[in-house]
Amino acid sequence: MIPLPHTLSELTGPLYGHALLGETDSDLTRHHAGEPIGERIIVTGRVVDEDGRPIPNTLIELWQANAAGRYRHWRDDHPAPLDPNFTGAGRAVTDDNGNYRFTTIKPGAYPWPNHANAWRPAHIHFSLLGPCFITRLITQMYFPGDPLLASDPIYQSIPGERARRRLIADLDPNVTQQQWALGYRFDFVLRGRAATPFEGAR
Ligand code: FE
Repeated sequence: MIPLPHTLSELTGPLYGHALLGETDSDLTRHHAGEPIGERIIVTGRVVDEDGRPIPNTLIELWQANAAGRYRHWRDDHPAPLDPNFTGAGRAVTDDNGNYRFTTIKPGAYPWPNHANAWRPAHIHFSLLGPCFITRLITQMYFPGDPLLASDPIYQSIPGERARRRLIADLDPNVTQQQWALGYRFDFVLRGRAATPFEGAR
């Protein structure tokens, strides 16, 4: 084994995108002239370390399919409609208490060619960027009660029922906005026994 020490540029930068956030970057329902089709939702939570201490200034990016289960991406050939008012990408930065908040549309399930009749449960992809580029973490958030979770090999590949449960958001009546949007709470725990499962980290 040959140690490869991190270079100064890896440890000090780039602070990718942190300074360039627009007012509507975290509201995916306001990126176009009209409103996207689908179930409007709020996803909020905290980024914390193993002791529950908040991690401020973390850039969180999300990407997702639209309500019909279609990504706006050239490789997605699922014959479900694109939504001209939904791109499916957004970003936010955690505040001093580690809080973030997105407004978006609940993504639909979509088929994939992994095995016969494979459908991914509804999910949102998240990327977290800490104080430097090598601290990027990627994971997926799921929705409570989704019957497709039981047969999803990506979700089921996470060892341990408790660890899998950490990737399911909580429906939260205190986040839900009356006559407007259902609210979900989803925290990211970066380390420790209660850590959020991240891709490539197990
Ligand atoms: Fe996906």
